[in-house]
Amino acid sequence: MSATAEMYQQMGIRPSVVNLGTQMEERLKERFREIDETAEHNQMKVILAMQKNRVSEACFHYASGYGYDDLGRDTLEKVYAEVFHTEAALVRPQITCGTHALALALSANLRPGDELVSVAGKPYDTLEEVIGIRPSKGSLAEYGVTYSQVDLLPDGGFDYEKIAQTLTEKTKLVTIQRSKGYQTRPSFSVNQIGEAIAFVKRIKPDVICMVDNCYGEFVETAEPSDAGADLVVGSLIKNPGGGLAPIGGYIAGKQELIENCGYRLTSPGLGREVGASLGVMQSFYQGLFLAPVVTASALKGAVFAANIYEHLGYPVIPDSRESRHDIIQAVEFGTPEGVVAFCRGIQAAAPVDSYVTPEPWAMPGYDSDVIMAAGAFVQGSSIELSADGPMKPPYAVYFQGGLTWPHAKLGILMSLEYLVRDGVIRL
Ligand SMILES: *Cc1c(COP(=O)(O)O)cnc(C)c1O
Repeated sequence: MSATAEMYQQMGIRPSVVNLGTQMEERLKERFREIDETAEHNQMKVILAMQKNRVSEACFHYASGYGYDDLGRDTLEKVYAEVFHTEAALVRPQITCGTHALALALSANLRPGDELVSVAGKPYDTLEEVIGIRPSKGSLAEYGVTYSQVDLLPDGGFDYEKIAQTLTEKTKLVTIQRSKGYQTRPSFSVNQIGEAIAFVKRIKPDVICMVDNCYGEFVETAEPSDAGADLVVGSLIKNPGGGLAPIGGYIAGKQELIENCGYRLTSPGLGREVGASLGVMQSFYQGLFLAPVVTASALKGAVFAANIYEHLGYPVIPDSRESRHDIIQAVEFGTPEGVVAFCRGIQAAAPVDSYVTPEPWAMPGYDSDVIMAAGAFVQGSSIELSADGPMKPPYAVYFQGGLTWPHAKLGILMSLEYLVRDGVIRL
C-alpha cells in the first residue's frame, strides 16, 4: 500500500472508496489540466494588477479612526478595478457579506420611481427581502423602487422576447445572477451574460447592468465586467477572498456608480474617503493572490464529485461533463439518509469541528429542516468545503468549496465512506 493510501486508511476510509477515487482522478486528468490553465491565467492577472498598482508592505499597515488616506484600502480598490477591468471598485470589511454588497449596489443606484428588472428569473433567496418581493423592513419597495422579473425559458436560457417587453421608461437597473445558487437551472457563462447585456443595451443604452458574481469569480478567464456589465458584485468569504479574508464584499464597475455606492455605504459627503481597514488588509491582498488557485481547487472538487456520484447512478447538477461557470455542485440522493450521510462525511473531513455530528434542524427562513456541514476557519465561509441539504424531495445536497484540492478530495471520499457505512451505497 502506498504511504498516501495508508493515510486514507488512518482517516477511516476503506480501500474500495480510495480506489474509486483514484480511478476517477485518472480519468479527469485532461479536465483538471484545463482548470489549471484557467488558474494560471487568473494568477497572472492578479499579480499583474498588484504590480501595476505598486502594492507594498505599507499597504498592510493598521488604519483606524476615520481612515482618511488609508493606503492599503485605496490601493486594494485599484487592484480590484484592475483585475475586473473596471474604472473603480469598492472593497471593504464594512461590507458585511454578499447580500449586503448587492443591497448596497442596488440602493445606491436606484431612486424612488425607478424600476429594477431581474432578467434571470428569481434572484437569490436573501435578495427577496432586499427587493421587497417578500415584504421586509427597509426593502427597496419601501423606498418606492418597483420590481419586475423575467423568468428563464424552460431550457434555462434568457427569454429575450419577454425581456424586450419588460424594459420600460422606468427601468433603471437590470440584474443578472451568474450562478444558479440553489436553484436547478444552469449557471450562466460570461459569454451568455455578455449576450444578454448587449441585448438589453441595444434596447435601452442607459440602463445599468449589474451582475451578481457570487461563486463565479475566477472560474473563467473573463469576468462579466469584461462582457459589458456596469457593476459586478460579490462576497469576500467566497472565491475572491481566497479563504483568508475574514469578512467583506466588493463592488467593481463604472466610476460614478461606485462613487454612489461609497456615499450609500458611509454617508453623503463622505463617501469612499472614510472607512478604516482595521488590520484586515493583508488577508484581503493575500486572499486575492491565492484566489485563482483556491477557486481551481474547489472546481476540481465539484467536477470530481459529479463524476463519482454520476458513476454511482445519482443525478448530479451540473453533470460530469458540463462546462463550469461557478463552484456549486448538487447531488440528488432521493432519500433523507443519503443527504444526512453525505453531510456527515463532509463534516468528518474538516480541519475544524470534525468531531461534530451535523443534524437536520428547523433553520429560520426555510420551509423544511436543513442539515449543514461546515468545518471552516471563517464562520459561514463557503469557499471552504461545505455542504447543505434541505430535508425534502428530491433530497439533494448542495456543496461547494475546498481551499486545497487534496482537502476537497478527502471530503468527497469521506462522504462516500459515510454513505457506504450507512448502507445507502454498496460498492
Ligand atoms: C452567496 C450568494 C449571495 C449572498 O451572499 P451572502 O454572503 O451569503 O450574503 C447572493 N447571491 C448568490 C448567487 C450567492 O451565491
